[in-house]
This record gives sequence, structure tokens and C-alpha cells, in this order.
Amino acid sequence: MTRLVTYSAKGAKSIGIELDEGILDLPQLSLHLKEEESLLGGAFPLEMKELLSIDQSLETVRDMMYAYVALPEKDRPALLSHKAIRLHAPIERPGKIVALGLNYHDHIEETGRDVPSFPVIFAKFPSSVVGPDDPIPMPRVSRKLDWEIELGVIIGKRCKHASKDEALDYVAGYTILNDVSARDLQDDDDQWIRAKSLDAFCPMGPALVTCDELGDGSRLDLWTKVNGEMKQSSNTSSLLYGVTDIVEYLSTSFTLEPGDVIATGTPSGVGDARVPPEYLQPGDEIELFVEGIGHLCNRVVG
Ligand code: ZN
Repeated sequence: MTRLVTYSAKGAKSIGIELDEGILDLPQLSLHLKEEESLLGGAFPLEMKELLSIDQSLETVRDMMYAYVALPEKDRPALLSHKAIRLHAPIERPGKIVALGLNYHDHIEETGRDVPSFPVIFAKFPSSVVGPDDPIPMPRVSRKLDWEIELGVIIGKRCKHASKDEALDYVAGYTILNDVSARDLQDDDDQWIRAKSLDAFCPMGPALVTCDELGDGSRLDLWTKVNGEMKQSSNTSSLLYGVTDIVEYLSTSFTLEPGDVIATGTPSGVGDARVPPEYLQPGDEIELFVEGIGHLCNRVVG
């Protein structure tokens, strides 16, 4: 399993592998390794989307990692300490974010809607993405701000008409998303794009975790705490449409491209469905957890 991160250190942005001991910068590692072991021969991309667009990039990154481990310790490039860097969303500007509505049985129940007979999809603007630790500014146009934890799927290869069996070949890995939602706008508008796309409405991170250990992402615990209090707690085994179903369904309609992000839907426990309803206020801290990926924490600011 590889944890890929987008980060900045001293104002410069880059991409790297997150290890327990620190961050291994990929462009620097590429320079460090002999040409035949490094990716591309030329300049190493500084952006995750660009990296994913290169053929066999994840396989090459894995080989670079093996080459790094094989180096004598004194010859290895230095790691950056976690304290010396700031994490960004793994994909800062996805080409598109496709989100699933009503995709957990328990959430469908709490909304009082019927089980959909096909995946319900909508879009979030790519400009709504922010990183771990970034603030969510309270929008002027909404007083009903809500949380939605979601397993995020990051596409690794261009994909059209993928069958369910081959769907995972096109998935680079997984991340955590908060599908922040303005419930008043969701009720007022005929469709959801405004309610789901305000600035900072898509916190994402902390890493892109490759598929090798998470497989199709179908048995992962996930939870949401607001100010330390548990609000959502479920498992991705309760998804109505799983990751491979979704990739098949979406790619049959339109091309999925490297760096595209799919938000797979949220389980029960959103604020709007609680009795009485609960909405986020300035100062509130939302902590999301997905097993095997980690924690994503953001605060609402006034
Ligand atoms: Zn959602």
C-alpha cells in the first residue's frame, strides 16, 4: 500500500510518499535514483493529476519505492518531517467530481425516500476542493450547513465503457471526502449543484491510498465526529452501489479521466435528518475517519 500526498514545504508544492518516519519527496527521489530506476527520465511531475496521467505511473512509483528501500541508509534522500510540511488535497483540482446521492441503505431510510433503481448522481464544482486542516468559511447564503462523510474514489486511468470486472484497473486509490451541503439551498433549488458546490464544500484528504490493500473499498469502517461527538458511524459494506458498479455506470455514460474524483455517498447520521436537526456553526470541528485511509479534520469559521 502506498500513501501518496500533495504537500507544500517552505511555500513550494510537490508530491510525495507518506511514510511513518516522514515524507519522501518523489521529484527529489527521481533525481536521486539512477535514470533507469526513475520515472520518465525527464522532469518529474509536481502535481498528482499530472503523475496519474502518465502511463504505468503507479507501478513506477512502486518500483521507485523499492529502489529507495534498497539504497544503503546513508545514500537515501532525507525525509521531510510531518511537522515541516502542510498537506493539501491529494487532487487539488479534479477535472470533475461526480457524487452519488442516496447510496447507503440507512441514509435512504432517514431521508424518507424510495430506494433508487439506478445510481443517483450529481456534480460538485472542482473549485470547492480544499485540503486537510483548511477552514470551511460559513457561507453568507446558507444557515443550514451539513456534513457528509464519503469514501472518495480517485481515477487513475482514462476509462470509457469499463465493465464491473475491469473497473478497479482504472482506480488509482481512495481518499476521504466531506460532501459539505447547504440543506436550505438543496431544498430551494430544483437541483443540487449550488447546495453542493459553495467554496470549501469539498474537503479532501489526507492522502491517496492505493488500491492494493483496500481492494474495491467495500469493507471499511467510517465515521464522523462533530466537536468530538459521534454523528455518523457505518461501513462501506452498506453501500447500495459499490465502487465497481459506480465506475461501470459512470464510464458507460462519459469518459472518466485521471484525477477525476467520485464521492460514493454518505451513510445515515447527517445533521438535517436528526431530531431536532443540527447544522454546523462557526467554530465547529468536523473529524472524518475511514479505515485504512486515516482522518480528515476541518473547522467551520465565521
Ligand atoms: Zn453526499
